[in-house]
Amino acid sequence: MRLQLYGTGKNGLQMVKLAWNYHCHTNYTDGSNTVEQIAKYCDDRGIEEIAITEHVRKNLSYNFDNLLLDIERTNKLYKVQILSGIEAKILPAGSLDCSEEIKKKVDIIIGSVHGLNGMAEREAYEMLAESDCTIIGHPQFFSNKFINSLVTTGKVVELSSRYEQSDEMLLAFKDAGLLFSIGLDSHTLGDFNDFGKMEDLIKRLGLQEQLWRYAP
Ligand SMILES: [Zn+2]
Ligand SMILES: [Zn+2]
Repeated sequence: MRLQLYGTGKNGLQMVKLAWNYHCHTNYTDGSNTVEQIAKYCDDRGIEEIAITEHVRKNLSYNFDNLLLDIERTNKLYKVQILSGIEAKILPAGSLDCSEEIKKKVDIIIGSVHGLNGMAEREAYEMLAESDCTIIGHPQFFSNKFINSLVTTGKVVELSSRYEQSDEMLLAFKDAGLLFSIGLDSHTLGDFNDFGKMEDLIKRLGLQEQLWRYAP
């Protein structure tokens, strides 16, 4: 059973137990599991909240409403709270690769840099900071300008167990007062094992006080 737990342990160390993951893929795109298989897995392990943040494009190859119905149906059958979301890449024009219609239907929008498509890395991230996403997916870049716009626009940065993120970058985000979203970027049930790795990182860098939770 995993519980959220913040506090000071016997030896004075801050303890963190994560029970949420705001970045999951399913077999609607490149994940291995159905929404229901993920929900059952979460219930068995006491994971309290997840977001299904499926890959999208402006022209979708699957029926997004079916995915939303799946989430709604599964929410009634399992204890884990399942939020709806998307992961969309930033396009050279500065917008996210997603229809306006879908953006309005979901709880969480992850904006990611997936390939530069002719953009400089700096440019891609700085445009992403100004886009209408909720969370910056697996960031691997920082600059003062980028961080300042994240603060101004109230964006959350993702702590990713899948992508290499430097301590220097994460500490710059921390010092700017940004909040961190826990994103395992899970494509398989096995990816949920990365909670431990994440907890160690949070303790090591002292991010406990800056973990973001979804609140409607
Ligand atoms: Zn991604
Ligand atoms: Zn992803």
